[in-house]
Amino acid sequence: MPQYYCKSIATTHHTQVPDGMLEWVVIGGGVHGTHLSHVLTTGKGVARDRVCVLDREAEPLAVFWQYTAATGMTHMRSVGVHHLDLHPYSLLDFHKRSRGRHGGFIPPYDRPRLSLFRAHSRHVTEKHGLDALRVMAAATSVERTPSGFRVETSRGPLQTRRVVLALGASDEIAIPTWAPTPDWHVFHPAFSTTHLAAGQRVAIIGGGISAAQVALDLNRRGLQVSIIARHAPREHQFDSDAGWLGPRHMAAFAASPLHERRAQIDRARHRGSIPRDLTRALRRAARAGTIDWLEGEIARVTADASFELELTESRRSLRVDQVVLATGFARRRPGGALVDRLIDDLGLPCSACGFPLPRDTLEWAPGLYVTGSLAELRLGPSARNIAGARAAGERLMQSTCNNS
Ligand SMILES: Cc1cc2nc3c(=O)[nH]c(=O)nc-3n(C[C@H](O)[C@H](O)[C@H](O)COP(=O)(O)OP(=O)(O)OC[C@H]3O[C@@H](n4cnc5c(N)ncnc54)[C@H](O)[C@@H]3O)c2cc1C
Repeated sequence: MPQYYCKSIATTHHTQVPDGMLEWVVIGGGVHGTHLSHVLTTGKGVARDRVCVLDREAEPLAVFWQYTAATGMTHMRSVGVHHLDLHPYSLLDFHKRSRGRHGGFIPPYDRPRLSLFRAHSRHVTEKHGLDALRVMAAATSVERTPSGFRVETSRGPLQTRRVVLALGASDEIAIPTWAPTPDWHVFHPAFSTTHLAAGQRVAIIGGGISAAQVALDLNRRGLQVSIIARHAPREHQFDSDAGWLGPRHMAAFAASPLHERRAQIDRARHRGSIPRDLTRALRRAARAGTIDWLEGEIARVTADASFELELTESRRSLRVDQVVLATGFARRRPGGALVDRLIDDLGLPCSACGFPLPRDTLEWAPGLYVTGSLAELRLGPSARNIAGARAAGERLMQSTCNNS
């Protein structure tokens, strides 16, 4: 038995890469990679010792927990059927069985409390031994071999017949050029607000859900918050219309020419939008005078004991104790040099926007699969979300690739 699969239901990751030929290597063990490893082993019945999830992080979904903790968000934006398990009602059943111990749902659309989603994720990974599939290592390159692929990692090479790229976007946080340091970004691993005390002032740059969540979180701690955004609050429940989760919009999308799909995704995605419960909370805080929303962009930032921000056009300036960048992710293709080299070496098809043009099965080349934003020209505007992971899982389930 390979060393990395040493317990049936293990809770720890493994430090050695497995020897011998694997069936599937999933690069990235976040929401997408973890769900797909469940689909492969539990859903498709691929032998567990032939599947490996490579991730730089020890814990499944570590990046997602980091992001959600940094924003202070209390509830998921997505609904209760979007989770890691295979059966759509798994989270609901778990909630009932645990008698609400981990928190419940809020309207509209019964969105789970983050603590419930987290407890359920832990339950699924433990029950199905998904931790035991993980090897904590960074993949640095993927090369074609006669029998599949060779994946170079920070802990040595792996041989596999198939690869799934489930890389997420954590390397692609968007830092404005005027910002002196990336760790002001709410998704930077070194980001922190723990040193701030009640009564201090914070400026949050960005007008989307993360800006709103951080603002409300800091406000609960008694801080005075200014949100600086390019636009007024844009209220949308989800980051794209729910019709994109089914045939209502996806049928036309799937029938449309591939070169038109980037524009459709851009039109469909409500970038920088905020669900109603949060816009209401922002309005309440605005009435109480503890959060204000300023439209503008930053022209200059001057740092001494605190920070002076000068806004464009209005030439208004603001003195704050901390600046928080809630500026989201860059729009470029994720995967950096690893994906760039794969495209060059294998001559992989890309759209004019630089993103992959995989087949309907999500195969970008024979045996090379994509999920998340790398699959969005097939899966549509919700590809990056948990719904996108589930849609990718359905395509893997349907794919006729043999499992041995
Ligand atoms: C604050 C926030 C809240 C969100 N809330 C929701 C929500 O409520 N509902 C919803 O549907 N979506 C939500 N999303 C969107 C989306 O579901 C998450 O961003 C989710 O984390 C995406 O999962 P992922 O697996 O693609 O990426 P990630 O969670 O980023 O995981 C990718 C993993 O791959 C690893 N990795 C990358 N490159 C390599 C490499 N070369 N070698 C080894 N490992 C590598 C990374 O370390 C990481 O662990 C939210 C996003 C954010 C930022």
